[in-house]
Amino acid sequence: MIDLAIIGGGPAGLSAGLYATRGGLKDVVLFERGAPGGQITGSSEIENYPGVAAVQSGIDFMTPWQEQCFRFGLKHKMAEVSRVEKSGEHFKIFYDEGNGEMTAEALSVIVCTGGRPRRSGIKGESEFWGRGVSTCATCDAFFYKKKEVAVLGGGDSAVEEAIYLTKFASKVYLIHRRSEFRAAPITLEHARSNEKIEFLTPFVVEEICGDNAGVNALRLKNVESGAEKILNVPVIFEFVGYEVNNAVLKQKDGSFLCDVDKWGNVVVDLKMHTSVPGLFAAGDLRIDAQKQVICAAGDGTTAALQAINYVEALHKHKN
Ligand code: FAD
Ligand code: NAP
Repeated sequence: MIDLAIIGGGPAGLSAGLYATRGGLKDVVLFERGAPGGQITGSSEIENYPGVAAVQSGIDFMTPWQEQCFRFGLKHKMAEVSRVEKSGEHFKIFYDEGNGEMTAEALSVIVCTGGRPRRSGIKGESEFWGRGVSTCATCDAFFYKKKEVAVLGGGDSAVEEAIYLTKFASKVYLIHRRSEFRAAPITLEHARSNEKIEFLTPFVVEEICGDNAGVNALRLKNVESGAEKILNVPVIFEFVGYEVNNAVLKQKDGSFLCDVDKWGNVVVDLKMHTSVPGLFAAGDLRIDAQKQVICAAGDGTTAALQAINYVEALHKHKN
């Protein structure tokens, strides 16, 4: 019986692993389908983690995190988890290391499976991903100070991030394929009254263009008139939806093991408790996540400290 199973080895999972092992839990297993590190390992640079003054690649930044955890006894199972169930007082984890489905039992579980921004599929998106195609204004806005930038999407994220970007950029083009927006009317009103934002609707981006240095232009088309337009910008921030990796919480009957909101974010309290005792969630998949490494790490820490209390109480009860 595992004391604590951590599912997902990004900043939240690794921080949970560090605190749980160093905090005295004996058998802590990290189920991570790939090399630990999480989404940030796909980023060419991170420069906003407090205390780390040098700008580093995501991979270089995350490498010491796993080394530190493993030193305190965290075990890594390179496995894809398909489902977590609660059976009696324990949790059952269904996983696959490449040889078919296996199960493990755990007293407590922290789910840290993160999420991923949806991709637009526009021509040039993959080629220039991380070189002028971004899904994180908080991470990358700083690099485009006093430059003209483009934002894609018509939901709350796109409009909110367009407003945020006006603090850095000289101008923000908000490109949306329809003239109606999904974003809340009040948010839209704020954007419309911001002189730095120019709305380009109903426009689609047909191609993201660039060279070795990265993006330098977008080829747009007005979906009503067919008119074409070239926008000379070094970056497009895409906000075309976000997918929370919550599949491990889906039960056989399609319901979720614990409460999730209407977008699939896991509902937690300030101590990262879910609605199920012994089950915690941390990082990008929880409600109101700020989607930053530092926040995910803090969540993982909080969840681990709670899980230690929970597991120790179970051990005491048995003795
Ligand atoms: P994740 O990092 O998403 O980690 C989840 C882990 O769970 C992954 O390793 C995944 O493989 C694993 N997993 C998922 N499902 C399963 C499963 N079923 N079985 C086993 N394993 C599973 N934040 C910043 O603070 N600064 C930045 O500069 C910055 N730049 C970014 C740049 C990019 C391109 C991206 C995409 C994100 C950036 N972020 C940045 C955001 C930051 O990466 C995330 O907020 C953070 O990684 C979230 O951590 P997490 O642990 O919650 O989840
Ligand atoms: P979203 O509401 O799903 O909006 C995605 C937007 O991207 C839509 O406008 C969509 O256009 C557009 N889009 C999708 N695929 C596209 C593509 N391939 N090319 C071009 N455009 C594309 O996503 P979100 O803004 O990330 O928000 C997700 C959820 O979180 C929403 O329910 C939102 O309300 C919520 N949220 C809330 C807040 C807040 O309350 N403050 C903040 C952020 C997010 P169409 O409209 O034409 O489909």
